[in-house]
Amino acid sequence: MRSLLLLTVLVCAALAKETFHGHQVLRIQAKDKTQLALIKELEQVFENQLDFWRDVTDVSSPVDIRVPAETLDQVKEYLDSWEISFETMIEDLQAILDEEQKEMESAARAGAAKNTDSFDYARYHTLDELYSFQDMLVSEYPNLVSKLVIGQSYEGRPLSVLKFSTGGTNRPAIWIDTGIHSREWVTQASGTWFAKKIAQDYGKETVLTSILDKMDIFLEIVTNPDGYQFTHSNNRMWRKTRKPNPGSSCVGVDPNRNWDAGFGGPGSSSSPCTETYRGPSPHSESEVKAIVDFVLQHGNIKEFVSIHAYSQMLMYPYGYTATPVKDQAELHALAEKAVNALTAVYGTRYKYGSIINVIYQASGGTIDWTYNVGIKYSYTFELRDTGRYGFLLPATQIIPTAAETWEAMLVLMSHAKNNS
Ligand SMILES: [Zn+2]
Repeated sequence: MRSLLLLTVLVCAALAKETFHGHQVLRIQAKDKTQLALIKELEQVFENQLDFWRDVTDVSSPVDIRVPAETLDQVKEYLDSWEISFETMIEDLQAILDEEQKEMESAARAGAAKNTDSFDYARYHTLDELYSFQDMLVSEYPNLVSKLVIGQSYEGRPLSVLKFSTGGTNRPAIWIDTGIHSREWVTQASGTWFAKKIAQDYGKETVLTSILDKMDIFLEIVTNPDGYQFTHSNNRMWRKTRKPNPGSSCVGVDPNRNWDAGFGGPGSSSSPCTETYRGPSPHSESEVKAIVDFVLQHGNIKEFVSIHAYSQMLMYPYGYTATPVKDQAELHALAEKAVNALTAVYGTRYKYGSIINVIYQASGGTIDWTYNVGIKYSYTFELRDTGRYGFLLPATQIIPTAAETWEAMLVLMSHAKNNS
């Protein structure tokens, strides 16, 4: 028995969290198309050992790549040999992770929150804490908030959605999701803050109240729970789902390349070992399929907002094609208005436009699908920052990020309310 216990301890230690000692994040700036192509080639040259935090787009935007310690010299030599300029954004990734971990542990020592007033919105939380937060909110605001489970993740976790409703049946609705890419922790944290904000402000703040008097809001905070759990237990840099891929040792699908909108096209990968692996077929991931089924069954969703990080951008369709959407003028003007409201809070600068124009061609994305099934107001955010910390945004920035984003959300939601 004792030896079994010892064995268990040893196995657990072996399966412990992946560390990132000496990993650096390089910011690479191409000066022309040739250099862009050479940066793109790094992916093949280093056989998927590199993690593109910000992908190759055009000369106006830098490329951010996490480079493991053991390939760092070679990558830098490669860049130098082609005279491609770069700087080190993050010197030692593990140092930032240690800091984040220390903060979370000190928060854990303070004990679990008893209610949503004492919940610490300025911290990152575990999956269990986010689930219990949702249950507390439902019990504290029973006339406004309820919880739906729209499906199960691959590993069998509930896909919970908070419903904010002041009555009526099948009212026009707004959908918001955060955390479909699990490592983008500021998004789940912002979603949590939004949930409390909505519950607290109804009946007090006029804009939100007028929205909820006409429409329902659905909010899925942990859209990729298996991935989120994995970012806590095993690998903080996990982005995809956790479904194994037959015939490959690499796990997971990019749930933002898995939708039936230009599925399989450029800006998505057919290789299970890449971060943008699209999956074997559209909607193969239960986390995606659950939303697809929910949206189609509901039939009256007027606005759909899918929230990512990082880069500070607000975008509308399309990502898979350069053909503009027929509502381009209206969606662009609304994006501008929303970004202005966001910037007015703390001066945070955002880019806005269609996905293909602002970032890059990406196929099988969420909001291209929602737009194509008739949800005119389909938007996606990339929250803070622009790369200083990337996915490891310090917890001190959670509330400012959520608060400024909320101002943009109110603009988007009011417009949907007034035009549907
Ligand atoms: Zn993302």
